[in-house]
Amino acid sequence: MPSGELRNLPSVDRVLAGERLKELGNSFSHDLLLNLTRERLEDARRSIAVGKPVPSLDEIAGAVAVHVEALVQPGLRPVINATGVILHTNLGRAPLSRAAISAMAAVSRGFSNLEFDLSTGSRGERQVFIEPLVCRLTGAEAALVVNNNAAAVLLGLSALASRKEVIVSRGQAVEIGGGFRIPDVMRQSGAKLVEVGTTNRTYIADFEQAITERTAALLRVHTSNFRVTGFTSEVTLAELVTIARNHNILVFDDLGSGCLLDTATYGLAPEPTVQASIKLGADLAFFSGDKLIGGPQAGIIAGKKAAVDRLKKHPLARAVRIDKVRLAGLAATLVHYLREEAPQEIPVWRMISASPEELSRRARRWVEALGGLARLQDGESTIGGGSLPGETLKTRLVAVGPGNKRGQSAQALSRRLRQSPVIPVIGRISEDVLLLDPRSVLPEDDEAMLAALYALAKDISK
Ligand SMILES: *Cc1c(COP(=O)(O)O)cnc(C)c1O
Repeated sequence: MPSGELRNLPSVDRVLAGERLKELGNSFSHDLLLNLTRERLEDARRSIAVGKPVPSLDEIAGAVAVHVEALVQPGLRPVINATGVILHTNLGRAPLSRAAISAMAAVSRGFSNLEFDLSTGSRGERQVFIEPLVCRLTGAEAALVVNNNAAAVLLGLSALASRKEVIVSRGQAVEIGGGFRIPDVMRQSGAKLVEVGTTNRTYIADFEQAITERTAALLRVHTSNFRVTGFTSEVTLAELVTIARNHNILVFDDLGSGCLLDTATYGLAPEPTVQASIKLGADLAFFSGDKLIGGPQAGIIAGKKAAVDRLKKHPLARAVRIDKVRLAGLAATLVHYLREEAPQEIPVWRMISASPEELSRRARRWVEALGGLARLQDGESTIGGGSLPGETLKTRLVAVGPGNKRGQSAQALSRRLRQSPVIPVIGRISEDVLLLDPRSVLPEDDEAMLAALYALAKDISK
């Protein structure tokens, strides 16, 4: 043990009294600097113990400054999504419309009538700002908006099926990603999952035979991130509703993305709409605010009044309630649908409906910015975010790096763009080529994108 070496380590007080930390002391608390200094000295003792040299006072002060810097720089920041996956959960799902952003800013900056009735001057209810919109758009009798769709499903099961049984087709007892697994959510709610059928085929009789006096509901889950093809058979929602009516039980529909527009108009497979689910008679339909709806994170529950009322009264409703900022953003987003301007105003739908000409024009500018480092190629964008699995939209891609003279690997190029000093740009790599897709990039971000690409080209040609 080199105890002699340890004696050369500066004391906490000496580090704190140095120029560097005195300067940091103008902006940061003494306690913060004290704790960080102690931790750095502890690091130093450990590295000395394994034979490393004793760091100088300046080196320790420098390490403290690095840690202070890491704490205060905004970790969560904007990036450009050039992956071609429109609803990218890791990149924050739906970008918001201008109207949604201003509504959110407006209620953030001061106070609001969130739970205050301006006509009577007494206590109000936050759901009154959203329920009529959801009902008008979906045809539902009642609605409730919560933190996210996982919370919506958990609340629905907890309020209406706790200590009872819920029957699900085996092919739908799925994991959606990010830790949302139907069997786990079911267990958490206190409901007992009864799986019927096989992974690929489930029949009406499977449900009929599984119903007991303890059955509370039949649950359909939209298998939103994979597709089962080939020898398959599922019981339709209409059939589930008929079975449920005959046995006086409920039908829940976890739509996942929850779409209000007809995706077939955009050359995509039909994504189940919320309106269809309500019309077919689901007691509760659950869907996300930030997938194909194109709003902020939220879980939307639409359905029969009797069922929704019980959810509203359940203690969990308070625990998973939506905040005022997202409530304002979601309401503004839903208004776009009422005004029939969703495809023009909601970024997700603008991306889905972008014309091939527009995508080509933007991609060509990117190629020019990259000056010989890239070429255009045909490719496909995907919707992502647990909607329309396997469905793609034709696009024009910018392929960076194939055969580039500097021999930069796709990984190296991708890292450089990710760490661009302009703005981080995220692409995707396919067969050792870095691909950039204009479809998932907001057109208003094109200038920043071009600046990042110029910077990359310049950097590489050095
Ligand atoms: C995405 C999804 C969820 C979870 O929704 P969040 O809003 O992310 O909580 C639940 N069920 C299905 C079918 C989904 O696709």
